[in-house]
Amino acid sequence: MNEFDLIRTYFASQGLARDDVAVSIGDDAAVINIPAGMQQVVTTDVLVAGTHFLPGANPDSVGYKSLAINFSDLAAMGAIPTGFMLSLSLPEVNAAWLEGFRDGMFRLANEYKAQLVGGDTVRGPLAVSVQAYGLVPEGEALLRCGAKPRDRIYVTGVLGDAALALLNQRDEVWLEEKDQQAVFDRLSYPKPRLSEAVALRGVASSCIDVSDGLLADLGHILEASGVGARIVLDRLPLSAAYRRYFDQSHDWDLAIAGGDDYELCFTVPVANELTVERLKSQWACGATYIGVIEAEPGLRVLDETGKAYDPQAKGYDHFTAPSPQPLPLRGGGED
Ligand code: ADP
Ligand code: MG
Repeated sequence: MNEFDLIRTYFASQGLARDDVAVSIGDDAAVINIPAGMQQVVTTDVLVAGTHFLPGANPDSVGYKSLAINFSDLAAMGAIPTGFMLSLSLPEVNAAWLEGFRDGMFRLANEYKAQLVGGDTVRGPLAVSVQAYGLVPEGEALLRCGAKPRDRIYVTGVLGDAALALLNQRDEVWLEEKDQQAVFDRLSYPKPRLSEAVALRGVASSCIDVSDGLLADLGHILEASGVGARIVLDRLPLSAAYRRYFDQSHDWDLAIAGGDDYELCFTVPVANELTVERLKSQWACGATYIGVIEAEPGLRVLDETGKAYDPQAKGYDHFTAPSPQPLPLRGGGED
């Protein structure tokens, strides 16, 4: 099978033909129409076998996840995906792997009616690069730089499960069968928080997706916004599996510093807090108030007794001395 047979067999057959795609796979480049009043948001991520996934990983999950993490970046911007490109480096043409990969990828793409419009295919070490694009109404993109003192900090879903799955995979922690399944599902099939992000347009003051761990990613918001923050550990949303792990380990670090969660961390002005409380009650994944933005730079992490918590996990450099006040109450304008 040559390069063109491969593209035709596996990737030119998505069965989706969007109106805004003027030229798709088959020419030198794709041509896309952008509706008036909208802006295009573009993102890309590379996954390398051995670094981002094990060479023996389920190809369905590799296909799904390589698109899902790009969709998560679009979600973090408040954009809805409309299409993507796929660049593949393959050591060989392995039909079973390509079918699994294609199925996982197109399942998610079709769910959001995002069309594959091109890519590149080369022989080399196994690696996948996806470039996804989408639309946001002009001026409504959610950025990292809008957080202001007193804004409330929220996170969707739960944190730490993907990191817990990796620890379990390395035999560093034992988990019950059902917990193992739950955390591996979160690692292999992260759900991009797209509908939630759209609802946050005009409501959140800043937003990021949690790919490198909450401390690092919230740190990016703080840096971009020129502010600091205080978060409280026992407010962090944890899954039932993580809670059972926590009961034995008392380990917060996977939840605050583990990567691969693909939840949204966002800030909300006090004036929009009731809106968010109403929105999050409609979301299957939920969202949790975990802290508050402060003028003083740095991120202060407090434990359940109000004492400074010093994470063991490193690679994070926004950590400074804490201040001991409790968090302001939700909905309160008291501070
Ligand atoms: P060129 O040599 O002009 O870069 P290619 O031979 O690389 O073109 O690709 C031929 C066509 O197939 C192009 O439209 C390209 O976008 C598309 N394509 C190549 N690889 C993939 C892929 N993995 N998935 C989808 N489309 C692909
Ligand atoms: Mg090419």
